[in-house]
Amino acid sequence: MPEGTRIHERHARLKDALVGVVGSRNLIAEAQALEPHLRDWRGRYVGRTPFMVRPGSTAEVAEVVRLCAEARVPMVPQGGNTGLVAGAIPFEAGEEVVVNLGRLNRIRDLDAANFTVTVEAGCILQDIQAAAAEADRLFPLSLGAEGTCQIGGNLATNAGGVQVLRYGNARELVLGLEVVLPDGQVWDGLRGLRKDNTGYDLKQLFIGAEGTLGIITAAVLELFARPRETVTAFVAVPSPEAAVELLGRTRSGTGEAVTSFELIPRIGLEMAVRHVEGCSDPLAEPSPWYVLIELYGGREDGSLGAALETVLARAFEDALVPDAALAQNAQQAADFWRLREGIVEGQLYEGGSIKNDVSVAVSRVPAFIATASAEVERLCPGIRPVAFGHVGDGNVHFNLSQPESAERDDFLARWDEIAHAVHDVTARMGGSISAEHGLGRMKVQEAERLKSPVELAMMRAVKRCFDPRNLMNPGKLVDPGS
Ligand SMILES: Cc1cc2nc3c(=O)[nH]c(=O)nc-3n(C[C@H](O)[C@H](O)[C@H](O)COP(=O)(O)OP(=O)(O)OC[C@H]3O[C@@H](n4cnc5c(N)ncnc54)[C@H](O)[C@@H]3O)c2cc1C
Repeated sequence: MPEGTRIHERHARLKDALVGVVGSRNLIAEAQALEPHLRDWRGRYVGRTPFMVRPGSTAEVAEVVRLCAEARVPMVPQGGNTGLVAGAIPFEAGEEVVVNLGRLNRIRDLDAANFTVTVEAGCILQDIQAAAAEADRLFPLSLGAEGTCQIGGNLATNAGGVQVLRYGNARELVLGLEVVLPDGQVWDGLRGLRKDNTGYDLKQLFIGAEGTLGIITAAVLELFARPRETVTAFVAVPSPEAAVELLGRTRSGTGEAVTSFELIPRIGLEMAVRHVEGCSDPLAEPSPWYVLIELYGGREDGSLGAALETVLARAFEDALVPDAALAQNAQQAADFWRLREGIVEGQLYEGGSIKNDVSVAVSRVPAFIATASAEVERLCPGIRPVAFGHVGDGNVHFNLSQPESAERDDFLARWDEIAHAVHDVTARMGGSISAEHGLGRMKVQEAERLKSPVELAMMRAVKRCFDPRNLMNPGKLVDPGS
């Protein structure tokens, strides 16, 4: 198709060709059906598209991409659309075709002896966890959106979640990938190998690339032994410094059995208790900070619980832990987690909230929280920092609730200004402005502001190498420049 042809004409001509590939039922152009696919999870952005296609196989994805590339029409890969940086939706101009991976949802193979599972990109994360459990294996990636997000989206955003401390990010859980490149070629890298030193580790380029280098269609994921004992504790600590000290002691004292170590501030607990059904304070006395600790062990003899009790008893003697509750059953453990997960929901009822998902070295978490809190208070007196999250990974969800007296919209209008200040503190501490969710559309400019010229040049070179026409999720993650 000639390059100069207007985009709307190209869309019109492309449409028939795409129907020929996916069938008319899988080309969605009707506004109501499209609506949830055009709005980001937080509702900050609503995009437009001429249509969304739902290919049902790798071959169909490849043909869809080839046709779009030939027509010079940009594409947005979309999984469960639970991403938090508006990476999976098109821009308002309405140029991109949405390529939704939901129909690629087969588990192709589970090799229990190799501790691997081969899945298609559209598999829901929870379904993969269930398939692993059925084979007496564990797929440890776990996050709040697991009932909706898809493994393709998890890999494209290098998702983290609550067990990174023990098992790593999504990046560490992948042995092989199948990818449709921006010109429609298929790369079959579905190898279940733990050792492969035959050159560049190409799969890692696509993990965390947020769909800007190609569309992931399948993956070989690593499985682990299923834990035989789970110990969950809700522990009061006087400060983030104490939390970090306790983390070190717990890791050492339990033989690296810590899978989750989540920091919770009193203000976050109160918001959850106030607004979220089923949330209650497990401890008798209030504490300024808490940690939710979870351990996985391979034995069923109670030894892990005993090890944690020893760690906590010593911490109690050293005034590091004033109080703690160990879950006595699965329901109690679920109640502790409900509190942790209830923080975000509780914040919804407290007016506007400006979200930051950052990371620093674990040892710097206390200094980060203190410095960033002081900085946002200086900018916006009365602001209520709710700093919580995966402190075991140095990952702080530094979410800022509006001052009680402020107008919601006035507060939210200051999102960029306040987020910039938080990012500056993060950068000064050698941290990352996106610990988990990627850059998407929201943080492209911030990454450009804060990354070094050398790093940016390398990223742009990679993008231009794989996608010289900038057709694969343009405007997200990195601007390739001219
Ligand atoms: C309640 C809640 C809790 C969350 N908790 C966490 C958490 O603890 N840790 C965490 O890391 N994230 C978390 N997230 C963010 C989100 O769930 C993750 O980023 C998730 O991995 C996105 O998966 P998805 O299928 O929804 O992807 P989408 O939102 O559809 O897409 C995300 C990005 O990946 C690209 N993409 C999607 N599929 C493909 C594919 N097959 N090939 C190439 N590119 C693709 C999209 O273009 C987009 O750029 C949370 C979100 C919510 C709503």
